[in-house]
Amino acid sequence: MIKIFIDPGHGGSDPGAVGNGLQEKELVLKIAKRLAEKLEEYDGVEVRLTRTDDTFISLSNRAKMANDWGAHYYLSIHINAGGGEGYEDFIFNGNVSSATESKQSLMNEEVVEATGFNNRGKKQANFAVLRQTNMPAILTENGFIDNASDANKLKDDKFLDKIAEGHVNAIAKMFGLKSGSPSNGSNAPSKPRPSKPKNSNGSPNKASGTIATIQRTLNSRYRLSISVDNLFGPQTKGALVKGLQTELNRQFNRGLAVDGVFGPKTRRACVTVRQGARGNITWILQAVLHCKGTSPGAIDGIFGAKTRSAVRTFQRQNNLQVDGIAGPQTFQMLFK
Ligand code: ZN
Repeated sequence: MIKIFIDPGHGGSDPGAVGNGLQEKELVLKIAKRLAEKLEEYDGVEVRLTRTDDTFISLSNRAKMANDWGAHYYLSIHINAGGGEGYEDFIFNGNVSSATESKQSLMNEEVVEATGFNNRGKKQANFAVLRQTNMPAILTENGFIDNASDANKLKDDKFLDKIAEGHVNAIAKMFGLKSGSPSNGSNAPSKPRPSKPKNSNGSPNKASGTIATIQRTLNSRYRLSISVDNLFGPQTKGALVKGLQTELNRQFNRGLAVDGVFGPKTRRACVTVRQGARGNITWILQAVLHCKGTSPGAIDGIFGAKTRSAVRTFQRQNNLQVDGIAGPQTFQMLFK
């Protein structure tokens, strides 16, 4: 399995570059998600992202996530600013493997080919994510947000798609990836891709509120299409369980059926999360706590004191051992 780690730059309190009504953090997240989708259509490749929503993650943590996972390639996606036009990419300016250099050449060629960007060249820099990662790593700067011509292109989702396409073509060449046969992807999600039910037909998906935000996040993160009605019912509960099952499979290779049913297998596969944890499983924990009426504070994927206190409250109310740590028992009760 080739492990590709994709890092959409910035996020949360850090918007990155801004200009012409655009924010770098939003553009790179869109590109990264498209890229991940396209890559997953190939056989023998696994993809992880540093973030799948608008959250802040430190540079060291980004590198650490990829190192801990044992990624084969690290790709950090950015948009440039500061006067210029077009595309450039960076590898670390210290000792790098020849593989890092040849991969940079491929990336540079393919992205410029797919986008038609002005090519500013293959560069080197002492960026933290390039320095701190253990595997070949690259950081791409995809156009200038403060350049009117580049910004106009970046406003078009089809152009973002081309950027993603260029990156994917390069990675496919680097690792000799072959297109997957959709029928028998061994552990690939076999769901057909929903064709963006977003806001196409009016009212129901425009609901606001924390549960609506959770529903929207579940739909986009796990490619589901539950109603966004800001109501916690069986459908939303099932989607949260599917999210948990997906994360357990992705992060811990549990091989669970993603069926939205919290049964004995899911319970056995469940991991324990406690204060200090961060990531999508913590996010699911916070989301279900909120839906069950025990507010964990922000639903941000970071297990802090407020989440711990919400877990304790829930455990106390349900006659569980009150330790503020969410394990199989607590999850089972939350999804009852
Ligand atoms: Zn950036």
